[in-house]
Amino acid sequence: MSLTTMLVRRYSKQATLSSLAKSLTDLKVEPTIKSKHPTKPARTRFAPSPTGFLHLGSLRTALYNYLLAKSTGGKFILRIEDTDRTRLVSGAEQNIFEVLKWCGLKLDEGPKSGGKYGPYRQSDRKEIYLKYANILLESGLAYKCYCSKERLTGLRISARRLKPPTTVTYDRECFDKRKRRVELPHVIRFKSPDKYPPFHDLLHGELNLQPQYNEKDRRYDDFVILKEDGMPTYHFANVIDDHFMKITHVVRGEEWLPSTPKHIALYNAFGWTPPEFIHIPLLTSLEDKKLSKRQGDLNIFELRDAGVLPEALINFVALFGWAPSRGLGEKFNEVMGMSDLIKNFSIDQLTKGNAKVDRSKLLYFNKMHIKRKFENNRELAELVDNHYPSFSMYSTEPRAYFTKLLKYMSSSLTTLNNLDEKIRTTYLHLYEKFDYSEFKVPCEDTKKILEFALKNGFEQTIDELTSTGIKKTDILKSYRFALVGNQPGMTIPQIMELLGDEEVEQKITRALEYL
Ligand code: GLU
Repeated sequence: MSLTTMLVRRYSKQATLSSLAKSLTDLKVEPTIKSKHPTKPARTRFAPSPTGFLHLGSLRTALYNYLLAKSTGGKFILRIEDTDRTRLVSGAEQNIFEVLKWCGLKLDEGPKSGGKYGPYRQSDRKEIYLKYANILLESGLAYKCYCSKERLTGLRISARRLKPPTTVTYDRECFDKRKRRVELPHVIRFKSPDKYPPFHDLLHGELNLQPQYNEKDRRYDDFVILKEDGMPTYHFANVIDDHFMKITHVVRGEEWLPSTPKHIALYNAFGWTPPEFIHIPLLTSLEDKKLSKRQGDLNIFELRDAGVLPEALINFVALFGWAPSRGLGEKFNEVMGMSDLIKNFSIDQLTKGNAKVDRSKLLYFNKMHIKRKFENNRELAELVDNHYPSFSMYSTEPRAYFTKLLKYMSSSLTTLNNLDEKIRTTYLHLYEKFDYSEFKVPCEDTKKILEFALKNGFEQTIDELTSTGIKKTDILKSYRFALVGNQPGMTIPQIMELLGDEEVEQKITRALEYL
């Protein structure tokens, strides 16, 4: 059961039937009447709370917001939602900046780069929230609440015990006694409407989510908008900021669906038009279970350190719940760089079902992107500079040699680290005078093969010796033994081209001396 269906069930019986029916029709191929992808430049935002390091799920949210903005010629904004001071994790904000940068999600506006609608860190916007909370107070749409923690806990417990129980717990005691003394510590609550208005989600369609009430003991969903310390709550700050930052589309995880009616009610209270909402499905493991810590919560930089290219990660993450449009039965090329993603991205192809994360796919994408990068000389040159500065320590040969070597190696690599090691050993074995006694002599005929090879060229050796009954693989293995001490990776002709005739001859001679 999808989260949406579950929520609809929980929130309103009436809504359940209609929404379920709608979901069912939606599952069938929708007649392609009209694209929902915006035609005007969209302003989107990624609004993380610095309460932990970015993981796959939040990276996907950021990416979809970025793609939506860039595919429409719009703007991508970063807003740091740091009003819950108790949950801040040190280093988390820095991690957000670094991950976005590494992944190539360039910010048009944000806490560091600034912008017309800043500040972009919520803790720097306290006055704005206070001003708008006061506007709601004055219009009677919000009220001060002085209830003690103990009283509120008691209300929560009693609400849970009701039959049926209710998740909205407050009894509006402070609304009814509004004439209290103002200097006492208090929070500000929003006076929620009796019925939340239905709202539209571009992915899920019309949704009508209502809390469940118990009419015998009526409680109210009067959520706090300003806390005792003057900080806004998530709901309030989110609405104020999306409005003033002129956000046109909010792409966020499905876990925020139950909050959306509250947000809509706030927009209505101010007389503002809400942005469009797109709630994207949860990420699950292949078995459709919630992602475990290891699978989903992994720190993005652990992947980088393991030799994953950002292009591969972005490609992998983009396909969690989206695929480019294609004709019936038509395949698409899954390997896409950022510009392909921007070109192909449309919200029409977002999927509603949970997105399953298959880690093995990441290595496949990595392999493909390594190959792609190596085919582009400029990108390859950059990679040599950034990723393999240490090669210079072995290097007496010109840089062109490394580049060539990298190109030859590319098809046998799944990660850059894998490359690092492989290329180092291959390089060493190509250029250092390694000790043959460390390697296994590949076959009985190796000596005979190499003696022949020394006097004749590679092709001739293959042609003539195979006609005497020696196996081609034994010839190749003997060459490999002599040239690179059995190191796998490149083909023999590639190795020979890199070494040059003279070096090949010297190596074969040395191998023969050993044999
Ligand atoms: N700060 C929220 C988060 O951490 C933002 C949710 C939203 O996009 O509205 O995910």
